[in-house]
Amino acid sequence: MYRILAITNQKGGVGKTTTSVNLAASLAATKRRVLLIDMDPQGNATMGCGVDKLTVDRSTTDVLLGQADIASAMLEVEYGDFKLLPANQDLVVAEVALMGKPGCETRLRDALQPVLHQFDMILIDCPPALNMLTVNALVAAEGVLIPMQCEYYALEGLSALVGTIEQIKAGPNPRLEIGGILRTMFDPRNNLSNEVSSQLIEHFREKVFRTIIPRNVRLAEAPSYGKPALHYDRESRGALAYLALAGEMIRRGEEGSKASLQDGGDG
Ligand code: ADP
Ligand code: MG
Repeated sequence: MYRILAITNQKGGVGKTTTSVNLAASLAATKRRVLLIDMDPQGNATMGCGVDKLTVDRSTTDVLLGQADIASAMLEVEYGDFKLLPANQDLVVAEVALMGKPGCETRLRDALQPVLHQFDMILIDCPPALNMLTVNALVAAEGVLIPMQCEYYALEGLSALVGTIEQIKAGPNPRLEIGGILRTMFDPRNNLSNEVSSQLIEHFREKVFRTIIPRNVRLAEAPSYGKPALHYDRESRGALAYLALAGEMIRRGEEGSKASLQDGGDG
């Protein structure tokens, strides 16, 4: 399993934040030690975890600018048993301030080093842009999780994202891989959704998660209560889907490590 996962898509409204918060809660429910990093100035993941973005003491901004160490900025989430590095509008300033500074792309990776051993999974909720904040996430990450809404223009932006991933891989982060493509807000009654879904599988094959996240109103409601869906309505289809996703990721990770052991043994 990828231990550090950037949840990225430069399109807005595709389910990045919903996936970040609910996957964090689901992995935590399986007793994984999880850190969620809010890397979006909108601070939606922060609010969705029940933390007031306007009153946080320290945030991702301070960590990126070297004004606070990450351990001192992490908060315990009330509903969910995981840790959060919160963010707010200040991140816009951080992004501008970082431009052209030495090591500007590796700030997050460097900041994470001292706390890596404290977590089984680190999830990074990215902003809807391929900017310096996203680059920091991609340089720090081992895998990229791409949430996609299966609609007409969905595939269009994907090549830009894949191009950026290739660039980062060829440069500062050779270990980066596409960890998986997640179909979100899925409506099986929509023919176009099914068509786009087939195209995705044709193109990305086993990279597409088998778990599909349905359109579910509980997922949209939960953030206004500052809770992951699992702690708002645990029987809801949305909460169950994200639990299934966590299970699939853990299984894939176990199969992956078995396969590499066998490769080692045979070779
Ligand atoms: P992003 O972070 O990519 O901008 P969000 O996770 O914020 O996207 O989702 C955009 C909007 O869609 C939000 O209002 C969210 O509550 C809603 N939403 C996300 N996933 C679902 C889903 N599976 N079913 C219903 N609503 C969803
Ligand atoms: Mg978001």
